[in-house]
Amino acid sequence: MATFSVRFLGCKVSHVDAHEIREHLLRDGHAEVDHAADVAVVNTCCVTHEAVSKSRKEAARAARTHRRVYVTGCGANLQADAFAGLPENVVVVAKRSEETAAYVAGDVGAIGCVQADARLDRVRAFVKVQDGCSFSCNFCVIPFVRGPSRSRRAEDVLREVRRRVAQGHREVVLTGINLGCYRDRDAGFDLPRLVREAGATPGLERLRLSSIEINHVNDALVAALRETPTVARHLHVPLQSGDDGVLRAMGRRYSVATYLRRLAPLQEELNLTSDVIVGFPDEDERAFENTLATVRAAGLTKIHVFPYSPRPGTVTAASDPVPPAVKKERGARLRALSHEACLARWGTKLGRDDVVLVDRPGRGYGDDYSPWLVGDDAPVGMFVRVRGAAITEEGIRAV
Ligand code: SF4
Repeated sequence: MATFSVRFLGCKVSHVDAHEIREHLLRDGHAEVDHAADVAVVNTCCVTHEAVSKSRKEAARAARTHRRVYVTGCGANLQADAFAGLPENVVVVAKRSEETAAYVAGDVGAIGCVQADARLDRVRAFVKVQDGCSFSCNFCVIPFVRGPSRSRRAEDVLREVRRRVAQGHREVVLTGINLGCYRDRDAGFDLPRLVREAGATPGLERLRLSSIEINHVNDALVAALRETPTVARHLHVPLQSGDDGVLRAMGRRYSVATYLRRLAPLQEELNLTSDVIVGFPDEDERAFENTLATVRAAGLTKIHVFPYSPRPGTVTAASDPVPPAVKKERGARLRALSHEACLARWGTKLGRDDVVLVDRPGRGYGDDYSPWLVGDDAPVGMFVRVRGAAITEEGIRAV
């Protein structure tokens, strides 16, 4: 038996992939520890240059305290040479996510089955329903490292949701790289049907979607979100830019007008959050102002701001004319706008009730993914009923 630890960088899909490796190692009888171990797995990210560099640092740190380190995930697939020069105990596994867990477990060496049903260590369970992307945004490396879109069988997804609920997870997040592409043609499932059926799992209290492209926010999905009582009142819809010229240069498949038109009916019902890239090659000051205006018009609150960084192999790989200081300044302005919108939304919760899933001591998220500060005695992993008492810089303080 080996001792191991698994960590991940990046998005929810990276988190799910890391846990798949973890579960495979546990199934094979290895023991997870939170200190120096025989084996470390670092599931890496390559979405920006900075993400790759953080991944490398994490692998180097692990190499000092573990006998063997497996570097897996998007960073390993895109840029195995980014991990060149690390100590000899670092093994870079450049494989598709479907093959990685079995490969790592096989290399570590399977020994007797002792823990076949490992509970995820997080409060909410992320269930991957789809991987890869067949869109081709001009800045994005994901289609290269994860391949084209493919979906899990609906039966397998629904079984996993039931298993997570049985393990005690009260909230499940359906996760994918491009979730709206979900299809199980043989079983006649698309994402709206999957939402309805997963949401009806006995014992499940809350269902979320990780992220959805605006192209997939259609009548069928909106109806499924509205008519499934367990679905949370939150949607994360990447915008990337609020300027039509920049959206065209990015190779995105929508205009600002489409983005606004599709979200307009949802503004009152849902908390809408997003991703935006600042400093894309075609983004001048006027285009950036358009993005600020679009964020306001769409009623977006929390924005994850990504300073543009060229990724190898992409259409825009050779272009990065916006100076770092300008990216920084635009990022700060956008974050300030986002914070202002969050404070305004949190203000509407004062004197009102909500149900918060406590995901760490003293903190949790409400139905619409607004952050709450709850008492330190609130039980982690449980839903607690709260009432908004005050607004802080970090969230809503509960009575
Ligand atoms: S939709 Fe575009 S940004 Fe998102 S993963 Fe696919 S190619 Fe990348």
